[in-house]
Amino acid sequence: MEYITSYNLEELRERLAKLGMEKYRAVQILGWIYKKFQTDFDHMTDISKENRKLLKENFFVHPLELKEEVQAEDSTKYLFRTSDGYTVESVLIKERDHLTLCVSSQIGCAVGCKFCATAIDGLVRNLRTEEILDQFLHIQMKILPQRIRNVVFMGMGEPLANYENVRKAVEIMVSPWGIDLSKRRVSVSTSGIVAQIKRMSEDPIMKEVNLAVSINAPSQQLRELLMPISKTNDLSTLMKILKDYPYPKGRRIMLEYVIIKGINDKEEDALSLARLIGKYKSKFKVNLIPYNPDPDLPYERPSLEDIYKFQKVLWENGISAFVRLSKGVNIFGACGQLRKRDVIKLREWKEEKAGLRSS
Ligand code: SF4
Repeated sequence: MEYITSYNLEELRERLAKLGMEKYRAVQILGWIYKKFQTDFDHMTDISKENRKLLKENFFVHPLELKEEVQAEDSTKYLFRTSDGYTVESVLIKERDHLTLCVSSQIGCAVGCKFCATAIDGLVRNLRTEEILDQFLHIQMKILPQRIRNVVFMGMGEPLANYENVRKAVEIMVSPWGIDLSKRRVSVSTSGIVAQIKRMSEDPIMKEVNLAVSINAPSQQLRELLMPISKTNDLSTLMKILKDYPYPKGRRIMLEYVIIKGINDKEEDALSLARLIGKYKSKFKVNLIPYNPDPDLPYERPSLEDIYKFQKVLWENGISAFVRLSKGVNIFGACGQLRKRDVIKLREWKEEKAGLRSS
């Protein structure tokens, strides 16, 4: 048995042919899953009974099980369990006139940003294409008839360290035979792996979607402290590849800046960031993300006043900058906070099953 959502159109056509089905059925089946969000083969009424039986004998649809959801004013966090017992989280954010889904691409993360809760456990494993897509499918099916229009790869993990699976998930999200989201409404956020950004820039599918890069510090020295990945992907090489990124005129790369009290929130830091961007102002916009404190990490969120002062310096230097404020901040941590809590719950659950705990 395999997951049908692990296939793109071409692959599914070939796979169906091997099962003795007509290749054109692939568009029909993917239409049921990604357009009508019907994932029960028995309800795919324009497929013959015989073929539905074949599908049921050969394919699953959902690799994830939805375990929990936590509501906040403007967002909902969803926690899934994988078939091998790990947890994955996604966040649905209600914006003024649309819904944005933030998906995870890995279980844990190897990048090790010092301010991030996901990094505490290190990398467990990559998510497969079908596990990335299933976050979307479960949530979309649950909230119908509302539609998710935007997807951001900003959940747990470094998407570009799981390139092939993320690429195929993006292909299925933006293809007319798939979910058919606008390419301008899918964003991939990276910690700044230079070689993978280059690969993305040369990839016909990936270069079309939005690129967001976590900068978090205006100098190599500070960035190395916050993001050890900077030692091998230094800031000047990263900025060079971003300045050369082949976006059409007018399209901007998002520089994400998690703003942390007493670490990177001073007006001099804003000025250094403006200098780093230099004359390439039209290529970038800066997203200031107030840090969400985690009880296990020694960092704090700056005051709103300091955040706005930082933003003002960027504006004064001609740089487009906005502050991402979530009203649902009580359920967000730095990425991965809810999962961390669930890791503990999962451990307890496993112990319970093994008879090591009474309840
Ligand atoms: S911030 Fe993102 S890249 Fe950095 S450790 Fe956390 S999940 Fe990984």
